[in-house]
Amino acid sequence: MEFYHLVLGRISTNVYILCGTDGAVVIDPADEPEKILEIAAKAGKQIKYALLTHAHFDHCSAAAALQKQGVEIIMGAKEAEFLADGGHLAKVGFNFEIFTPDRLLDGGETLELCGMEFKAIPTPGHTVGGMSYVCEDMLFCGDTLFRRGIGRTDLPSGSYKDIIKSVGTLLALPGDMTVYPGHEAFSTLSYERENNPYV
Ligand SMILES: [Zn+2]
Repeated sequence: MEFYHLVLGRISTNVYILCGTDGAVVIDPADEPEKILEIAAKAGKQIKYALLTHAHFDHCSAAAALQKQGVEIIMGAKEAEFLADGGHLAKVGFNFEIFTPDRLLDGGETLELCGMEFKAIPTPGHTVGGMSYVCEDMLFCGDTLFRRGIGRTDLPSGSYKDIIKSVGTLLALPGDMTVYPGHEAFSTLSYERENNPYV
């Protein structure tokens, strides 16, 4: 599997592109859809799916444009309700094109995408319908878990109680994994189990 990491958008969001056997998956298409498509094309792959960890504008501003190019948008069902409800930060004056997701997740599903397996883990707290994804030994956790930190809970639908529980769920995943958060530095589960002050 080929793996690419980009930092895109106004809040320097980590965007991950995973190339499988017959296409590529982007996690959190933050911005600059043409750049996301181009990175995959250079690797000889077409982006077929976008997995969203949550619906804040800085994680899915490119979703609508990618969808028009035939990319299937997948996200948590509760998060999609919140996005459609309009009470979300997504709509707060950031020139953000709202989209209707193609596939909704309740969490617990295992997705087969482009020959790769992704397990969806519900991680509410930063937002009500946040979702994390495990692929092999990689954990993509959006704004739930950061290196030595956790996500904000003061935005609409945030819950400190829920995020602490969600972080506990992630840290209890078996073995060690590389943690790929929505912003800033990568980490590992073993490092966070020892050093995260919110544990
Ligand atoms: Zn966020």
